Amino acid sequence: MIKIGIRALGLGLLIAVVWSNAPAQPQQAKRWYKGNLHTHTTMSDGDMPPDYVANWYKEHGYNFLVLSDHNVLTPIAELNGVLAEPEKYLLIPGEEVTTSLDKRPVHINAYGVDQVIKPFQGNEMHEHIQANMNLIRKAGALPALNHPNFQWALQSKDLLAVENLPLIEVYNGHPAVNNRGGGGFESLEQMWDTLLTARKKVFGIAVDDAHNYKKFDKTMSNPGRGWVVVRASSLGRKEIMDGIAAGDFYSSTGVELQELETSAKGIRLKVKQAGTVKYTTEFIGARGKVLALAHGADAAYALKRSDQYVRAVVHGSNGDDAWVQPAARP
Ligand SMILES: [Zn+2]
Ligand SMILES: [Zn+2]
Repeated sequence: MIKIGIRALGLGLLIAVVWSNAPAQPQQAKRWYKGNLHTHTTMSDGDMPPDYVANWYKEHGYNFLVLSDHNVLTPIAELNGVLAEPEKYLLIPGEEVTTSLDKRPVHINAYGVDQVIKPFQGNEMHEHIQANMNLIRKAGALPALNHPNFQWALQSKDLLAVENLPLIEVYNGHPAVNNRGGGGFESLEQMWDTLLTARKKVFGIAVDDAHNYKKFDKTMSNPGRGWVVVRASSLGRKEIMDGIAAGDFYSSTGVELQELETSAKGIRLKVKQAGTVKYTTEFIGARGKVLALAHGADAAYALKRSDQYVRAVVHGSNGDDAWVQPAARP
């Protein structure tokens, strides 16, 4: 059976076709929604107020935005009253639960939170992370571990002891966060594979962590660098949160997907061609091993018996990337 979803992003409409082996029955068509999950305003250390920031993202074609100021819940009800539009734009409440332990920063975002979360101070790193994540879960929100390589604070060994970590940043647009690792420190993608190889069910997100809206250059943490594209039945807070929690999304710094199917059988995708950009898709498995490479806009990988999981990264020749969530056998 063929499900057809209509995608409305930025300019124009795209048709996304998803092949599925589900029994033939009417299914609610799902759409793709682009959003940024990590954003600062003058409510903490951002340089523009919430209304300016919320407007910036709306004007740049985003469908949803989480304002995630440090240890404060930036009010969004009034902003949504002015800016929210059905199926077009929505603000979702958030907080960056910001702590440190032994001078190592531990920042955990809370998505869909309604009350400010007072951080917990632990003595051991795994206990500290776990307790703050649990507080976020208890508040009915979804936690994400932010920029582990910021000040080289966290390594995968700190995260392996944490249970039920649903999301980790694999790309953060802030210039000081060391996404690529180096000098013996894992990249964020390598950390992700370490966790996946240890059979942690964790999805990878790309975010802006935007602070600077006045001056744009590579020393600034500007908006528009990393985002997620979530598949949901409508642009509602619950629908978007459910899509993220289920891993029904991809992360991007510019590569746009036209089709994406992830199932227990593997991954199939089609890139939306941008200009003359050339695409290479890496299919990556346990311990970060590259299982296969595909050139061009179409790429597919069928899970083999020997594969624990497969995830895909699409590299554009222009430097843009997209990260597809892992597929694994049940
Ligand atoms: Zn942070
Ligand atoms: Zn931040």
